[in-house]
Amino acid sequence: MLQQTQVSAVQAAFQKWMQDFPTVQALASASEEEVLLHWQGLGYYSRARNIHKTAKQIVQNGGKFPQNRKELKALPGIGAYTAGAILSLAFHQNEAILDGNLVRIFSRLKEWDFLPTKDKAAKDAYWEEAYNWATAEDAFLTNEALMELGRTVCKKSNPLCESCPIQKICNAYKNNRAAEFPPKKQTQYVSWIGFALAICDGSGNFLLQSSPKSPFLKNQLTFPMFEYADAFKNIFPGIAEDVIPYENVKRFAFTGTVEHSITRYKIQCRVLCVEAKSRKGLIGSWIPKQELSQKIISSFAQKIIIFTHDF
Ligand code: SF4
Repeated sequence: MLQQTQVSAVQAAFQKWMQDFPTVQALASASEEEVLLHWQGLGYYSRARNIHKTAKQIVQNGGKFPQNRKELKALPGIGAYTAGAILSLAFHQNEAILDGNLVRIFSRLKEWDFLPTKDKAAKDAYWEEAYNWATAEDAFLTNEALMELGRTVCKKSNPLCESCPIQKICNAYKNNRAAEFPPKKQTQYVSWIGFALAICDGSGNFLLQSSPKSPFLKNQLTFPMFEYADAFKNIFPGIAEDVIPYENVKRFAFTGTVEHSITRYKIQCRVLCVEAKSRKGLIGSWIPKQELSQKIISSFAQKIIIFTHDF
């Protein structure tokens, strides 16, 4: 849960998760919908799906949790960092981890002006350094200590170098260059401009589908979404007719615009509310308006709900 997400955002969800899925068996037997609802608001839903798949795989294999890097990395969603974290923190093995805190510390200690994502040599250099630290007798303590040092002392901005216990071996400190490391990550944002179709029937039920024609929210129950097409400029409904033919439209209105970011997508999404004359031919799940918030898990789609209120 904590990958790419802050502790404060995770706390309540984590407690509820542990209460409802206290064992790997309990998680494996839950439905995907249930699992995703527990992940509501945390984003990066592939993590929830992967944990669920992993739980099922572990139960199928007799319920024993793998305790070596090779077997762990064969499980869905477990990469080098997660495998190292599990082995070191849960099983106290001398395994390395490399999270954002450690990358920042190593970059400053060594004055490395590259990130591990640059190329294979860069990645190897960071992992080698991580393994150098993890050879201590209690690698889990060293790993925990480094993560904590990164969180509280060697912070992203204004690192507290004067009270840092490893300042003597830090090149950036010696040269007064801590602020220059690590180098900034260049994120290539992609702009996505489109619209979401909130179709209701005469009784206040909304149509949700699980495969939006957008690059995000795949496999989630949500409103149909479309990227803007030139053909859609002035008329109803352009490509929305793929979902609801105009003959079936009783009334429609654009009710607002949602702005949101998901991973590298900067989204601008107009909300097109439509009342259908009939449900006939409209494929998906019809959800009563008051239940939309429970059925829709992404915070982006939650924002769309707000613009259905006055329709
Ligand atoms: S001395 Fe400063 S830059 Fe170096 S590791 Fe410590 S806090 Fe980070």
